[in-house]
Amino acid sequence: NKKIVLKNYVKGFPKESDMELVATGTAPSKVPEGVAGVVLVKNLYLSCDPYMRGRMSNNGGSYVDSFVVGEPITGYGVCKVVDSSHPGFKAGDFVWGMTGWEEYSLIKDPSKALFTIRHPDLPLSYYTGLLGMAGFTAYVGFHEICAPKEGERVFVSAASGAVGQLVGQFAKQMGCYVVGSAGSDDKVRLLREKFGFDEAFNYKEEKDLDQALKRRFPDGIDVYFENVGGAMLDAVLLNMRVGGRVAACGMISQYNLDRPDPVHNLVTIVMKRLRIQGFIVSDHYGKYREYEETAARYVKEGKIAYVEDVAEGLENAPAALIGLFSGRNVGKQVVVVARE
Ligand code: NDP
Repeated sequence: NKKIVLKNYVKGFPKESDMELVATGTAPSKVPEGVAGVVLVKNLYLSCDPYMRGRMSNNGGSYVDSFVVGEPITGYGVCKVVDSSHPGFKAGDFVWGMTGWEEYSLIKDPSKALFTIRHPDLPLSYYTGLLGMAGFTAYVGFHEICAPKEGERVFVSAASGAVGQLVGQFAKQMGCYVVGSAGSDDKVRLLREKFGFDEAFNYKEEKDLDQALKRRFPDGIDVYFENVGGAMLDAVLLNMRVGGRVAACGMISQYNLDRPDPVHNLVTIVMKRLRIQGFIVSDHYGKYREYEETAARYVKEGKIAYVEDVAEGLENAPAALIGLFSGRNVGKQVVVVARE
């Protein structure tokens, strides 16, 4: 059973050498004798997610527990149930949820950790993104936290990533004017040509983010879907319209900093009567099943475009994870451990 373990807690940018591939024992095929309420899964697809960076430190900076040094990394994944002593799961079921970065995992509290996959006919890897956590994040964040209205002007940062590409498309479905920012010209092209954004720009090529936004939003921004924080947030604040809303989904530019970047333009929150609301997707999982049906229908009807960046093999998981922080990924970063 090969695993990726955390070698040490991380300061600053994570490196591949902060993690290590180890092989222990043989592949298990049964849950341990006499242990009730657990499932043994074979991990198929692992999800690389920015929040995992917080768990690589032990400074209490994350809303979930730190990883344990010497133990496998844990995170979202898509798995096949191999054996079960829990009445809600049976061998052969496909599930998604919290699992280990290893070939096989024993899941102790499966009804809390796992969702049974109701559309196994769709590409299973989509349950690491569009049909799972990232997709639901985009949906809840946009439709509930942003409270958008038809025709509003929407800005999305990290727009070509797992969450951003979907936020942009949900906003277009509502008849909004949508602009995205991303970190390369190829990603910008993807935003315009594949995901249907009205406008897009490469934030790394813009000397003045305030002016870059003013050019695309001469009348200001109604809704900002915040994925990056830092200088971008500061520039956005200068361009919000009165009564604008900001869904604070993430601030990836801050996750590797010892001291967060200062934000200077907070007074505009008062002047423009803004509502800025943070949210964590897992607080909303009670509504996930509804979303799963909606998203599955979009996929079946070809109503949504979706790009994944697929790394082959558990051994490539550390590089895939740290690639999120340099923008190496194009679309949702997935790691294939096994295909069946
Ligand atoms: P992505 O697929 O978007 O990957 C991360 C991307 O962030 C990179 O590809 C890169 O794109 C961009 N990025 C990295 N470093 C920086 C930087 N310093 N400044 C600006 N952009 C940067 O990840 P996700 O879609 O999974 O996550 C997007 C955001 O949503 C993150 O902030 C994440 O923490 C948050 N999130 C929050 C959840 C919640 O429950 N609140 C749930 C899921 C995600 P580029 O090339 O464009 O720079």
